[in-house]
Amino acid sequence: MDKVIEEFELLTKDAERVQRETLKRILEDNASAEYLQSLGLNGRTDPESFKACVPLVTHKELEPYIYRIIDGDASPILTGKRITTLSLSSGTTQGKPKYVPWNDELYETTMQIYQTSFAFRNREFPIKNGKALSFIYGSKEFKTKGGLAARTATSNVFCNAGYKCAMRALQSQCCSPDEVIFGPDFFQSLYCHLLCGLIFREEIQFVSSTFAHSIVHAFRTFEQVWEELCIDIREGVLTSSVTVPSIRMAMSKLLKPNPKLANLIHKKCTGLSNWYGLIPELFPNAKYIYGIMTGSMEPYLKKLRHYAGELPLLTADYGSSEGWIAANVNPQQPPEYATYAVLPHIGYFEFIPLSELDNTKGEPDFLCIDSQPVSLTEVKVGEEYEIVMTNLAGLYRYRLGDVVKVMGFHNSTPELKFIRRSSLLLNINIDKNTEKDLQLAVEAAAKLLAEEKLEVVDFSSQVDLSKEPGHYVIFWEISGEASEEVLHECCNCLDKSFVDAGYTSSRKVNCIGALELRVVRRGTFQKILDHYLGLGTAVSQYKTPRCVVSTNARVLQILSENVVNNYLSTAF
Ligand code: AMP
Repeated sequence: MDKVIEEFELLTKDAERVQRETLKRILEDNASAEYLQSLGLNGRTDPESFKACVPLVTHKELEPYIYRIIDGDASPILTGKRITTLSLSSGTTQGKPKYVPWNDELYETTMQIYQTSFAFRNREFPIKNGKALSFIYGSKEFKTKGGLAARTATSNVFCNAGYKCAMRALQSQCCSPDEVIFGPDFFQSLYCHLLCGLIFREEIQFVSSTFAHSIVHAFRTFEQVWEELCIDIREGVLTSSVTVPSIRMAMSKLLKPNPKLANLIHKKCTGLSNWYGLIPELFPNAKYIYGIMTGSMEPYLKKLRHYAGELPLLTADYGSSEGWIAANVNPQQPPEYATYAVLPHIGYFEFIPLSELDNTKGEPDFLCIDSQPVSLTEVKVGEEYEIVMTNLAGLYRYRLGDVVKVMGFHNSTPELKFIRRSSLLLNINIDKNTEKDLQLAVEAAAKLLAEEKLEVVDFSSQVDLSKEPGHYVIFWEISGEASEEVLHECCNCLDKSFVDAGYTSSRKVNCIGALELRVVRRGTFQKILDHYLGLGTAVSQYKTPRCVVSTNARVLQILSENVVNNYLSTAF
């Protein structure tokens, strides 16, 4: 691990040169690709020619090429070597998953990221040889019309022949058998992950998932099923609600009657106050909780901290189905202050500066660009940028749709804070509110609920234009019953918390109608999750859609069918 850190230090000391070399490698390896050939690079691999010849693109512009690959066209389209596997991104933003090319090079960069962050993490929080309770779930694999395998990027990683061995080397071996990870039913897999964690409780060194939402979801489920888990452990027989034969078979090899363990867990659970500190009680040797905790995962931190008690929360790395970007090399930072250091050898990165001006000219999907992208080493501390990625799997100058802020430098590579998706969420006329604005408004209003010992389990939003003037609708699932009075106050607080001048001025003159808070039944967000799972999204990559667009009819239907109460703001 010292060697990994040493290598990272070397690479980041000379990030500009490493970036040039990485670009050269990408362009040389893929020189025969039709896409690059058509752009007139003529063998040039320097950043200047690259920027002059290759346009900035979004997924939409690459779709015709990607669909040819999907349909089985074996010619070199985006890459020199043929693409045989695709990744499905979570697609929660627009309601449908996107296909992106996957290849062995992306697997290698995944391992480089994992190794780098593990090396830094283990220096601060050393773990012994043991196991991880990892709430990971393989997605369904299917074949495209052209016979290519398609599954989520996380599943592509889990399915790689070298994955298990690599995880063992990083002391991050999942305690559950493959049959549980790749099981066809999410709930049954989750139940068995919990059971495996309890069986190996002494050995568990940390608790993890790709995105923190899955950990919170798992322990919320634990609150419901813990007695059943205790019965299974006591009797050594798996509950009949787990029906998948392969899972039953795999679990029968691990489960033996253990009344002593069942009694211990029972005692621990009944001794807790409102489940505070559940994770360290169950797993006494766990050193930390690990998973992506920034961006759209921030709303789950409060609950996660509640379950974690004194255990530190360590955010994982920064990447996407399209490729990895940066590693958490300062693991001691709490997630709210976390930054990610870009690995200059895993892709070629550019950054579009975002001025205030750009922010006011947002488009539904991507911000307008006034400024030209700058290179990795030209970014400025304190500035915000949209990331542009060129990867080893056929994406060139690809706008990822994420906004990051440069917080500093690790040697000469920037340390990024994830700010938000670049798409605007809520926009009726001159108002512009992002995912972050919505999160802050919900946090402010949820404080009023906290006084009643209640919490927002999950939330989403919608722009309702069905009546003039249009208005914002916020959907809340709450952990219990709140009084009408409190919910009305919450609704007013939400309305007042959108402080963007476009919004407040429109509200004052009623160009935007009163904000509406719609409270939905318990379990509604579980139904939304189930809907996405049905579309092929893996829980590992799931992000609750924070704004439901009108074309996302099924999710809108789930939400509207489950509304139990609604409140209109009287704040203006
Ligand atoms: P997916 O499209 O399912 O591959 O998800 C990738 C997206 O998840 C990224 O583009 C980001 O918006 C978000 N994401 C990934 N890693 C992080 C992170 N460490 N912090 C915040 N958001 C992240």
